[in-house]
Amino acid sequence: MIELELQTMTMENRQIKTVVRQIKEEYPEDCWLNEPLAPHTSYQVGGPADAFFKPTSIDDLEQVVRLCLHHKVPFYVLGKGANILVHDDGFRGVVITLERCCHQLFHEGNLLYVGSGCTVQELVEYCENHGLAGLDYLSGIPGTVGGALRMNAGAFVGEIGDRVLRIDALNEKGQRVQIHNEEAQFGYRRADGLVNKILLGCWLIVEPGDPRRLKEAREDYLRRRAEKQPLEYPSCGSVFKRPPGDYAGRLIEAAGCKGLRVGGAMVSPKHANFIVNVENATARDIYELIVLVQEKVYQQFQVWLELEVKLVGFPESDCKRVEKPDYV
Ligand SMILES: Cc1cc2nc3c(=O)[nH]c(=O)nc-3n(C[C@H](O)[C@H](O)[C@H](O)COP(=O)(O)OP(=O)(O)OC[C@H]3O[C@@H](n4cnc5c(N)ncnc54)[C@H](O)[C@@H]3O)c2cc1C
Repeated sequence: MIELELQTMTMENRQIKTVVRQIKEEYPEDCWLNEPLAPHTSYQVGGPADAFFKPTSIDDLEQVVRLCLHHKVPFYVLGKGANILVHDDGFRGVVITLERCCHQLFHEGNLLYVGSGCTVQELVEYCENHGLAGLDYLSGIPGTVGGALRMNAGAFVGEIGDRVLRIDALNEKGQRVQIHNEEAQFGYRRADGLVNKILLGCWLIVEPGDPRRLKEAREDYLRRRAEKQPLEYPSCGSVFKRPPGDYAGRLIEAAGCKGLRVGGAMVSPKHANFIVNVENATARDIYELIVLVQEKVYQQFQVWLELEVKLVGFPESDCKRVEKPDYV
């Protein structure tokens, strides 16, 4: 029976299984096999990863990354999963989170170092407690600093990229590198210079601030978020990027999509750019609703909404379907 299974397995799958077993043997306490990803994402959906690796040191991280690169085994760096949609069948390969190996947070004068595995919440609280201004507008953005850098997360008056001096990372070959602000190529919810890099931590530029004022600002940002966003349901925040000169939420609402449902997924009646998991949605429900919204908005306004959420474990055909088609 096992032999038959092995015969029908593709070369690639066999390679993955071998490497995954090796990681488990070397790091039994830090590696989980067939780990469901749903609890690791804010959408609360998605199937298992072959291996889920939480290194306790950067040396261990480097070892495993090199092993995966050598054997061409896919790996995915996960933050808090606040901006991803994981396929119902999960991810074939190794998912890696840096919360244990990249968790430093300290400052020297007007420069602050934060590890990628720290949450944005921890960063904002540290700044508030130490009277450091310049990052308070990130209050309430779920996720890690690594995810925020990769997405150039921002809200209200700024984005994290505005404050980055340089980033420590592993490059595509698994070597340690430093990436300066201009090399990161920060743009609106993108950082093209950080694609395929593993971000370990970064230096941010801050300035002295009054802790009382920072606390008031944080509370104000949180209040404004709670007023506008359907925080009572699992979501990924904004599904689509802002199209030039307009708002995705406005177009979706005007196309009559508020309240639209596929299975357990719904376009939020409170904020049209949020697709929420209202009733045990599957990743397929959410995905099909995304496509439906894109089509309806396009039919009415000839605007193709670009995804802000990242698809994980989806086949190429699904990824292509949500990209701008040729006729647009
Ligand atoms: C309720 C809600 C509100 C939100 N509001 C906002 C908002 O106001 N502004 C905003 O910008 N976003 C917002 N988001 C989206 C999300 O919070 C951000 O995109 C966040 O930065 C994602 O961080 P994460 O750690 O969860 O990343 P993940 O979702 O885990 O990953 C996102 C991407 O970053 C990559 N990544 C993560 N860590 C690393 C690393 N260390 N090295 C390399 N790549 C890495 C992943 O591979 C993936 O490509 C919201 C989400 C929710 C659920």
